[in-house]
Amino acid sequence: MLEIFFPKLVVDSIEDINLDILRRNNIKALIIDIDNTLVAWDIKEADEKSMRWIEYLKNQGIKICLVSNNTEDRVVKFNEKLKLYAIHRANKPRRAPFLKALSYLKTKPEETAMIGDQIFTDVWGGNRLNMFTILVTPISPKEFPFIKVKRFFEKMVMKNYKKKLEQR
Ligand SMILES: [Mg+2]
Repeated sequence: MLEIFFPKLVVDSIEDINLDILRRNNIKALIIDIDNTLVAWDIKEADEKSMRWIEYLKNQGIKICLVSNNTEDRVVKFNEKLKLYAIHRANKPRRAPFLKALSYLKTKPEETAMIGDQIFTDVWGGNRLNMFTILVTPISPKEFPFIKVKRFFEKMVMKNYKKKLEQR
């Protein structure tokens, strides 16, 4: 029952996601969350580290679309230098923003990875469309109270997830 919330892969940070992992799983494109996945939620622009990682994947032919529930201002500013496809006010985990991203990327859901730090938006949304979901550890521990509530339930899901991994 909880499996719809389980990521296919868990990593510490985006830099752990390399070409090898993507090729092994037949991934041709990425849908990436911004806040607490690429940068802390209060950092306005893409930093060196995430820029370098994105450039590296882009140069290898991996297509990328940013999908954020944050505002247009936030997403446009963040994407200024990156110039990626980007969707703001996405309302993840609803299907619509993911379908829109897939239409930009021109890939099938199975060839597309959804990368994000939240189970109930990023992972759930990606799983609903049968994408390859990758959960990253949130960059900043500073978060809004409503997200902290969600983190409590995320912990419960991850406890079950780990139990299931151990049973394999
Ligand atoms: Mg996030």
